[in-house]
Amino acid sequence: MSINFLQPEYEVVRNMDRCITCRVCERQCANEVHHYNADLDRMVSDDSKCVDCQRCVTLCPTNALKIVKTNNCFKENANWHTSDITDIYRQATTGGVLLGSMGTPKEYPVYWDKLLINASQVTNPSIDPLREPMETRTFLGKKDATIHYDKDGNIITKTTPQLELSTPIMFSAMSYGSISYNAHKSLAMAATKLGIYYNTGEGGLHEDFYVYGPNTIVQVASGRFGVHSDYLEAGAAIEIKMGQGAKPGIGGHLPGAKITEAVSKTRMIPQGTDAISPAPHHDIYSIEDLRQLVYMLKESTNYKKPVIVKIAAVHNVGAIASGIARCGADIIAIDGFRGGTGAAPARIRDNVGIPIELALASVDRRLREEGIRNQVSLVVGGSIRSSADVIKAIALGADACYIATSALIALGCHLCRTCHLGKCNWGIATQVPELVKRLNPAIGSEHLVNLVTAWTHEIKEMMGGMGINSIEALRGNRLMLRGVGLTEKELEILGVKHAGE
Ligand code: SF4
Ligand code: SF4
Repeated sequence: MSINFLQPEYEVVRNMDRCITCRVCERQCANEVHHYNADLDRMVSDDSKCVDCQRCVTLCPTNALKIVKTNNCFKENANWHTSDITDIYRQATTGGVLLGSMGTPKEYPVYWDKLLINASQVTNPSIDPLREPMETRTFLGKKDATIHYDKDGNIITKTTPQLELSTPIMFSAMSYGSISYNAHKSLAMAATKLGIYYNTGEGGLHEDFYVYGPNTIVQVASGRFGVHSDYLEAGAAIEIKMGQGAKPGIGGHLPGAKITEAVSKTRMIPQGTDAISPAPHHDIYSIEDLRQLVYMLKESTNYKKPVIVKIAAVHNVGAIASGIARCGADIIAIDGFRGGTGAAPARIRDNVGIPIELALASVDRRLREEGIRNQVSLVVGGSIRSSADVIKAIALGADACYIATSALIALGCHLCRTCHLGKCNWGIATQVPELVKRLNPAIGSEHLVNLVTAWTHEIKEMMGGMGINSIEALRGNRLMLRGVGLTEKELEILGVKHAGE
């Protein structure tokens, strides 16, 4: 039937004057786009298999390749876009749910880009971070509501367990299984070197990575994959995943093809079987149930580790966060709907949830109004793309940010958005041994360290420009932000003034 045929989205353009038929592109492409045709004595391409991962373009020794978006077009109008039409063809052909990776491609507002940062002029002079101390160290966990003194008048600084970060950035949850051993190792090595944390995601902890435990957050999700007492003890903190921004309200599905021997051992499930996480935790149907799990995890680790509860940014997020703060969690992680690295049903990814900026501002305000903001730290993720986004998040009330897509891009990801196919040509979202080895953890971790170091320099410069010398003084400091092109309602929710005010 005619609807079976869809014009390839990308075209491989090969400059035949430059091509030396070295066949590098053929060897490098796991999607089998390039082939040497002996009869023609030249390279040929199958455009229909190209996902625009840019691997061949990057490695072609003669710069002979480029990938272009096809200019074939449907007769679109303001209502029917090409993607709407082709999605219907695909579903009419397969009867299946459409999957996609790496967050929504739809044009929802990015509020970070509608917020501008202040700088001091004349009064409250700016601070030069190269000459004066600038504190980016951040502690996550419950804080005392009041200052306590001992009998000699010294401040008592004993608190419940905290996570200490050298800079307010952490690597967000990405499970071993959804990403490769080498990607996981790169994150673990970089977190250790930087003095921050990476997150196991819901796939358990490979035995080789226990050594990075002091910089690891171990996750407990609805599937409970790989959760046992040594695992809980191994990390510096435990995260309960209630939801994630890319697919709020549903569970996860890692195809059996990705459950290799090592992944099966780590997850404690049979090799080759699909790893399906239920949508809810089957023992949690109320805040009281969540409280039981929070305290069960604390109890089982002798109250030595902070417990994080991660939720997706959804409509009633302020009230939900209030409940979580009251149920004993030390940290709340909120994941916005533009984020997400793993596979998600496209319809949910593109339509369910709310932007992280609005969720963060609502949660911070609600917790402050209820007088319980000190009981939890807030960590936000969901498309943090630069140090400026981090600064804006902290000024809106975050204690720290989770990054995932940005971290993967630093590892070489070219955002081809086909992680769910398991054939990542950059060795990140794959378990195929010959692809995994393309990512060298020593080099990958170095790139991650460079990224976070660069962002930290920029954070210091922007804080200095505001006349602020610590993250503590920036947190929730909305006076440092102004909105542009926002409605009264949006400004009200964000709690910021319009530029010019
Ligand atoms: S990598 Fe470049 S030079 Fe080599 S065969 Fe492919 S297009 Fe030709
Ligand atoms: S991780 Fe790999 S498959 Fe996923 S978007 Fe990046 S390059 Fe593509």
